[in-house]
Amino acid sequence: PQGTRPDPEDRLVQIELQTDRPHSARVYDYIMGGKDNFVADRETAAQVLADWPGLRTSMLANRACMHRMARYLTGLGVRQFIDVGTGIPSSPNLHEVVQETAPDARIVYVDNDPIVLAHARALMTSTPEGRTTYIQADMRSPEALLGDAALHESLDLSRPVALTLIAMLQYVEDAKGLVDALIAPLAPGSHLALTIPTGDLAPESRRLASEYTRRGIPMYLRSRAEVEGLLTGLDVLDPGVVPMPRWHPAPGDEILPDTATNMYAAAARKP
Ligand code: SAH
Repeated sequence: PQGTRPDPEDRLVQIELQTDRPHSARVYDYIMGGKDNFVADRETAAQVLADWPGLRTSMLANRACMHRMARYLTGLGVRQFIDVGTGIPSSPNLHEVVQETAPDARIVYVDNDPIVLAHARALMTSTPEGRTTYIQADMRSPEALLGDAALHESLDLSRPVALTLIAMLQYVEDAKGLVDALIAPLAPGSHLALTIPTGDLAPESRRLASEYTRRGIPMYLRSRAEVEGLLTGLDVLDPGVVPMPRWHPAPGDEILPDTATNMYAAAARKP
């Protein structure tokens, strides 16, 4: 049937992938074993992996942490999600984890990289009761992002939502300003869940941050105190700001040592 929604694939012809430059979604995809990447992405990946071979383990742990956060928030009753910086789809994506227990949940995916838009179809596999939508927006323009018409078609922002910023805040210098701007318009009872790179846990990983930055993908690292600062004004959920593998590990999970990842995880509720 003909819908009114534009077919993401119709816009493929207009997409400028800039394959001569590394893009974060594609570097990530390559390191995770995906196929949606080009020479510049693979060169960057090779260099950052040489700088810190632990990166792949850390990225996989990040993905696993996202799954636990999605499950945990769903368990708290959250039924509306905004996932900013979705990345190239890699199953299970957030909606698959959420809808497994809450088939009526609605998820809006946001990314600014055209290659993610090109794959949006893989994110549109909602249960019939729920809904998944993809919007192309830049988190550095929070008003435009939260004002997006397709987002409002899917979600009721007068009611609580969960905003997930998974491996995203390293790209912005003013992370606090961004978090505040994204949270301010959300209803009380909304949640924020994040994972965020730090230099505290695996000091060798600092080298890869400079390498990403040198190659045009800025990467800011944050101390634990800085991450806690991002959450001021919110009620931080247990266990607070912790090395990612320590954030609500599933029973039986082997917990990686703190030096095995370069990221903190935290979730909080807007009072
Ligand atoms: N959250 C996913 C993917 C992280 S990779 C995960 O943790 O598995 C980072 C993603 O953020 C990439 O897809 C990249 O395209 C996107 N991104 C980077 N800067 C962005 C911005 N300013 N606005 C929206 N998305 C952005």
